[in-house]
Amino acid sequence: MFRSLHMKLVLILLLLITSLMTIVGAFLMTSITSFYIDEFYQQMESVFGGSNPSNASFVSSLRSWAAEENVSQIQEMVEARSGDLGLNSTTRTYYILDGRTGEYLAGSDAEGAASLQATANLLTARASIARGGSEVGSASDINAPYMDVAIPITGGEGAYILYIYDNRDTISSLNSQLFLIIVQALLVGLLISVLLSFLLSKTMVIPIERLTEGAERVAAGDFSGAIDVDSTDEIGVLTTTFNDMAEVLQDTLEAVENERNKLDTLFLHMTDGVVAFARDGSILHSNPAASQMLDREIAFYDYDALFGEQFPLERVLALQRPDFLSGELTAAERILELYLAPFSDGEDGGVMAVLHDVTAQRKNEEMRKEFVANVSHELRTPLTNVRSYAETIRTMEDIPRETENGFLDIIISETDRMTRIVQDLLTLSRLDSGRAEIKMTRFPFREAIDAVCRAVDLDAQNHSHTLVRAYGRHLPMIVGDRNRLEQVMMNVIGNAIKYTPDGGTITVDAGMKGENVWMEVADTGIGIPSKDRERIFDRFYRVDKARSRESGGTGLGLSIAREIVQRHGGTIGLVRHEGPGTTVRVVLPIRQAVNREELDDA
Ligand code: ADP
Repeated sequence: MFRSLHMKLVLILLLLITSLMTIVGAFLMTSITSFYIDEFYQQMESVFGGSNPSNASFVSSLRSWAAEENVSQIQEMVEARSGDLGLNSTTRTYYILDGRTGEYLAGSDAEGAASLQATANLLTARASIARGGSEVGSASDINAPYMDVAIPITGGEGAYILYIYDNRDTISSLNSQLFLIIVQALLVGLLISVLLSFLLSKTMVIPIERLTEGAERVAAGDFSGAIDVDSTDEIGVLTTTFNDMAEVLQDTLEAVENERNKLDTLFLHMTDGVVAFARDGSILHSNPAASQMLDREIAFYDYDALFGEQFPLERVLALQRPDFLSGELTAAERILELYLAPFSDGEDGGVMAVLHDVTAQRKNEEMRKEFVANVSHELRTPLTNVRSYAETIRTMEDIPRETENGFLDIIISETDRMTRIVQDLLTLSRLDSGRAEIKMTRFPFREAIDAVCRAVDLDAQNHSHTLVRAYGRHLPMIVGDRNRLEQVMMNVIGNAIKYTPDGGTITVDAGMKGENVWMEVADTGIGIPSKDRERIFDRFYRVDKARSRESGGTGLGLSIAREIVQRHGGTIGLVRHEGPGTTVRVVLPIRQAVNREELDDA
């Protein structure tokens, strides 16, 4: 109950008022008591004190009456000054006692005389009389329930004590009245403090409560609406600061959220696989690329199942940043490079795994090596031939002219072969690097095919082939590099002639389909085994090496053809069909996306 600020305020105010009133009351009551005591002794002094000349005659008169042992006269004189002494019958009484025995002789309260006590002042006066002196007993004691003064009156043989006794009833009644007033004031004070506390709670507690509500809202992540500020006091400043803080916090959270979204997007779409593991090996995060690379739903696995065999988790965790472990693994015919590194050393740390797919890279390297080996091999054979025939001519004496010419013919044909290989390689390398210039022009597709057919006609006739032109008249104009496209056609028709035993039929057909034109060259030749069909467009790939070489082939023709067709945005491939022979189909887009400048309409 006393935990709420409101109740604490009430309690503090109540305590404050009570303690204040108690202190003030006690102070007032003590002051009144001492004032009365002082007043009493001053009164006595003013009557019996030696400083006043009128007192001196009064005291000496008393003494002379004492010398005559006339008590009644003494009493009379005292009674005469009763006003000055403040005597009355109830609170302040006087007694005339025998100075030596203390026996009551006369006074204003004969009844009370019986119960008179031997107070300190009385004893002082009596002791003084016994010594023959006249010392007044006038010591005051604030704690005593009375005030008294004992005045020795001596003269000749007579020795008396005038004893004035005040029972402090006046003070007591005054004090009790004061006490009553204080209690009433206290009650009023308490009432005011309760009212004040309500007022205070309105100005202090309510804003604090509002602030608390706001803080709870912010803690729950709700930043909508600032807290109202009604005052400019400390609470007002605190509320304004809190509003500012909430705003900054919201901005910061938004920035963090943005960063996280950015990272999430990056994480989601990056081509490298990323997996984060906790220290116990369980998976914290992984991206789709990682699952794809490892060919399994990673979320169902842990570190040990994925990489534990190759790199124990403890080994990775023991690494110091920025050290990392790297290795290679194969998963689902993919070659993956794996990098493992610990992140943050504390309890929240773990291991980050990054997977990089190097399959294509490795394949390219393989292909490059194979290509270099092929090139070397292709060049070595004619070189060896050239060298051995040249050597033979040089070492053989009396070599017949005919044989020598035959050998020289071989040397020339082998050099031609090498030149063709080198030329083809150059063309390929230019196409590969994009350096080969493609001169786009608009030309009639049909004319190009006609030109190629005319060029190969003689060759076909030499092999007793029938060259059938199955295409009609209505072929469109196309945009492309005419020379290079004719080179492609030449290669495809040339192959058909080469790889068809003499007396075969070669059919050239063409047409238009949608946005494309197509050309098909079908022969009745040796055909291509299905295992080789995919590969004949690879560099140096030949189904029958001896046959290819015999007919002057380099094994690069179709690779070059494919490069050219692809540069035109078209395709080249084999048509699957029943029966012997081969059909090659080339598809080209009619219109190229080319710049006007590149277009040579002439
Ligand atoms: P080549 O210079 O050896 O002819 P190509 O790249 O033009 O090289 O052809 C690759 C290989 O594809 C040839 O060696 C041959 O084995 C095969 N080939 C191409 N066209 C035909 C065809 N019409 N009939 C049978 N085999 C073919």
